[in-house]
Amino acid sequence: MLELTDSHAHIDDAGFAADQAAMFERARDAGVRHIVVPAVDRASWPRIAALCDANPQAYPAYGLHPMFLDQHRPEHLDELPGQLETHRAVAVGEIGLDYFVPELDPERQREYFHRQLRIARDLDLPVVVHARRAVDEATSTIKRIGGLRGVVHSFSGSEQQAQRLWDMGFHIGIGGPVTYERAQRLRHIVATMPIDRLLLETDSPDQPGACHRGQRNEPANLTEVLQVIAQLRGESEEAIASATTANASSLFGFTRA
Ligand SMILES: [Zn+2]
Repeated sequence: MLELTDSHAHIDDAGFAADQAAMFERARDAGVRHIVVPAVDRASWPRIAALCDANPQAYPAYGLHPMFLDQHRPEHLDELPGQLETHRAVAVGEIGLDYFVPELDPERQREYFHRQLRIARDLDLPVVVHARRAVDEATSTIKRIGGLRGVVHSFSGSEQQAQRLWDMGFHIGIGGPVTYERAQRLRHIVATMPIDRLLLETDSPDQPGACHRGQRNEPANLTEVLQVIAQLRGESEEAIASATTANASSLFGFTRA
C-alpha cells in the first residue's frame, strides 16, 4: 500500500461539506495518509481546527493568504501566534505574494507576508508559501529574514528559481499542473530535481489533473500526480510516494500531541 502525503488541500472548502466523510475514505483508499490543510483567512481558522480535530489524517496550518487581503486586519496577525501554539499547527500558511491579481495592493501584501514569516521563524514552524508572479521577491524575502524552512506550493517558476529555493533548504510543491503535457518546463524540473526537495499536493478543490479536468479536485486524486511524476522520473510510484512522505514528515512533523 502506498503512503502518500497531500501537502496542500483546502478540504475545509464549503464544496466538501456534503461528502466530507466519503472524501476522507477515498483518500485513505488511495493511500493518502496525511493531508495538510492551510488556512486562507481568520474566519477559516476555527473551521480548520474542528476539521483536523475530528479527522486524524488532517493537519492544520494557520495564516492569512494574500488573495484574501480584503478580509485581513492587523489584529489577525496579533492573534496568529496564539492560534498556532494552541491548535497543533504543523505550519504557518497559507502566506505569500500574488502579483497576478491587480486589485491586491502589493505594499499591504508585503506587510502581511513579512510579519507572518517572522512569526514562523520565532515559533520555529515551517511556512507554506503562495507565490504567483512573485517567486523572486518571495525567495529574497525568505532569505533576508533567515532561519526559515518550508515549501513554495504549486511551483511554476524556472529551474533557476527552483534552484535558489533548494539552496535555501526549501521544498517545491507539485500538483495537477504537472499532469498536462504542455507543461514542458515544469515537467523537466520535476524529472531531474533532487527528490529530497519534492512535495506532492492537490491544492483541492482547485487545480485538478488532466484526467479530472473541470471537476472538483480532492486528495484521492494525488495518485494521478504520483503516476505522472513516477513516469517522468523513471522511478516506481512506491519510491516517489515514500520519499515525498518522508520529506513532508520531516518538514511538518505529523505528530499529534
Ligand atoms: Zn492554497
